[in-house]
Amino acid sequence: MSIAFYHKLFHSSVLHERAHVPRGRGYCLAATTVKPWPDLTGLAIEPRLLTALAPLMLPTCYRAWLACGCTTVIVALAKSVVVSCESHVWAEPILAGAVGYVLADLGSGVYHWGIDNYGDALTLVFGTQIEAFQGHHKWPWTISRRQGADNLHALACAVVFVVGPIDFICKDPTMLGFVAVCSGCIMFGQQFHSRAHSTKSKLPPLVVAPRDLGLLVSRLQHAVHHWEPYNNNYSIVSGVWNEFLDDRKFGLRPRSWSEPSSKWTGDVEGEDLYQLEA
Ligand SMILES: [Zn+2]
Ligand SMILES: [Zn+2]
Repeated sequence: MSIAFYHKLFHSSVLHERAHVPRGRGYCLAATTVKPWPDLTGLAIEPRLLTALAPLMLPTCYRAWLACGCTTVIVALAKSVVVSCESHVWAEPILAGAVGYVLADLGSGVYHWGIDNYGDALTLVFGTQIEAFQGHHKWPWTISRRQGADNLHALACAVVFVVGPIDFICKDPTMLGFVAVCSGCIMFGQQFHSRAHSTKSKLPPLVVAPRDLGLLVSRLQHAVHHWEPYNNNYSIVSGVWNEFLDDRKFGLRPRSWSEPSSKWTGDVEGEDLYQLEA
């Protein structure tokens, strides 16, 4: 992918999308200087081989965690619907689901902000995710090349342990509706994030439509997160909280994104080759 393509990407159809650019920083979208893609001239390329091998290299447990995570969310949603049918109470569960959707975006923003700005690969519990996000900042396009199970398995695992017990214990349709939608949006937040890195032509209409309606974080809004000074637009579900969160300062200077280790990046050259496929 050339620099010319990158400029075309952000200076054509996506420019009409709304993005929150923090006040006081003097941004002009049309004139913003974007980081150039790496110089890939001279690399030996066999992207089709890499693409073919990628699914085979994905650990089976990733798909298992994603399947379990989806099951726990579906069970919560199904229980909410069944109990609502029996009790003829619909308004509260639907409203709770809407609140869950809105709060999931807030949660994604706060979590992403924390992961981006604190700790490192050695941090307990969160170290792997911190390193993964650093890798994403270095090579943003790779997220849209990864399979859903690769992007989602960590959050799916958390959803299983948090939502699973609620599925067994809770019989309140309102609470179940809230939990199902909120946990589902949190779990799929990374997939929405991945879609924000994809052009319309590479997405199915079922994804493009909600993104155009503002129900999923827009391509341009998330692109601003990857521009200097790299300290805004952290929410990755709908992005509705970005402006509010960006206007709140916590008195903590964002750190510069560091180089990810080879453990995360694997074959750096291979990642670059993926880019040429786009
Ligand atoms: Zn980030
Ligand atoms: Zn991103």
